[in-house]
Amino acid sequence: MKRLASLAGDLNKCVKCGTCRSICPTFRVIGRESAAARGKLSLIRAYINGDMGLGDDYLRHIKECTMCGGCRDSCPAGVDTVRIINAARAEHVEKEGVSFAASFMMKNLLDYKGVMPRALRYVSKFRGLLFKDSPTENGLVSRFSLPVIGCGRLVPELAGTFFLDTAEAKTLDAAPDINEAKVAFYSGCGVNFLMPDVGLKSIKALEKSGPVLVPGAQVCCGMPAYYSGDVETAKKLAIKNIKVFESYDLDYIITSCATCSHALKNVFKDIIAETGDKALMERAGKFAAKVRDITEFLPIKSPSALTEGQDENQSAGGKKTVVTYHDPCHLNRNQGIRDAPRDLIKSRTDLEFKEMRFPCSCCGLGGGLAMNNYELSVKITERKADSIRDSEADIVATACPGCIVQLRDGLHKYGVKAKVVHVVDLL
Ligand code: SF4
Ligand code: SF4
Repeated sequence: MKRLASLAGDLNKCVKCGTCRSICPTFRVIGRESAAARGKLSLIRAYINGDMGLGDDYLRHIKECTMCGGCRDSCPAGVDTVRIINAARAEHVEKEGVSFAASFMMKNLLDYKGVMPRALRYVSKFRGLLFKDSPTENGLVSRFSLPVIGCGRLVPELAGTFFLDTAEAKTLDAAPDINEAKVAFYSGCGVNFLMPDVGLKSIKALEKSGPVLVPGAQVCCGMPAYYSGDVETAKKLAIKNIKVFESYDLDYIITSCATCSHALKNVFKDIIAETGDKALMERAGKFAAKVRDITEFLPIKSPSALTEGQDENQSAGGKKTVVTYHDPCHLNRNQGIRDAPRDLIKSRTDLEFKEMRFPCSCCGLGGGLAMNNYELSVKITERKADSIRDSEADIVATACPGCIVQLRDGLHKYGVKAKVVHVVDLL
């Protein structure tokens, strides 16, 4: 209860105005008070006061949240709703533990060279039994209802070679000029296991300004564990990553995953502050100060430098290819990065940029919702799919592998033709 009790003062600042309901993606779909922050805070307050137990209903309401941060950002009383909701999840894990399957998965996320990659490879051998290739999309479609995945869901295919196992990444782990490298690349699970191309394109773009290091000993950023309430596992992963990167003399640590850049910049410091270990907190602060999302790090080009690729970007009818941009919550709300990815697209491609309606509305993936409650998660994606359809964009660019996975599935489900890519894919 310590973590949750320490937030009771913040929780009591809630004046029950209901502003948070107007922005909440889960409330928009469910329409029930407990789906929005105001209802969740009432339940958490009841638990702290001993008027409610940690039953299944309580947990269900606490988990009906993408952790998008919309409620926190719009709250006139300044309540840190996301922190409180996550503390409630952590309280549940402290008291009730986690399931065997979740515990196995979280513990084995600890090391990219450990059990997890081998398990993923093994499972992928049976892909033909469980999935079929999508005739139109880049991914696989489940043949029947599978646990967590459900039926008809478009899932990404596991990479043939994981990013950290590619020759390029391995070379940059042991490069002879490594002492000169002031920039390191952090891949995260999405890039490592599913989208190695995004990692390779990121390195290519970064190498234009000097050598890049890719430490092979890096591990998961821990956000899946953190959002499931397993803060202890997330803390171990944070400390391991800090140790790996601080063994080099770096100026910058760059990642192409918005969730990872939020974790490395903000969440590591938060969870390490809980230890009260001043030396470790100082190391976490130094580490965090070096982290940049790739979209804020890559330079914007002046319009005069744009001459190449003009013809490639014309559609068959001579019409220019239209691109729109989806704001990942972890980049937009948690890091305040909105213009940089748009400026990169506008300045470094000759695509026609068109803003969609509600570009910063949540895609529905976050906070573990796509794992815990896929139906709700993909229903949230419907609004995004409608906005993309209405924009008539050919391409949707974003900056988070998780959002890419969710948007590809959602667009497939709701029959929207646009292609979903990472911003670095366009550069
Ligand atoms: S917006 Fe803030 S103060 Fe208003 S009900 Fe929601 S959490 Fe409470
Ligand atoms: S974080 Fe997002 S999904 Fe969760 S309660 Fe707040 S607005 Fe709703």
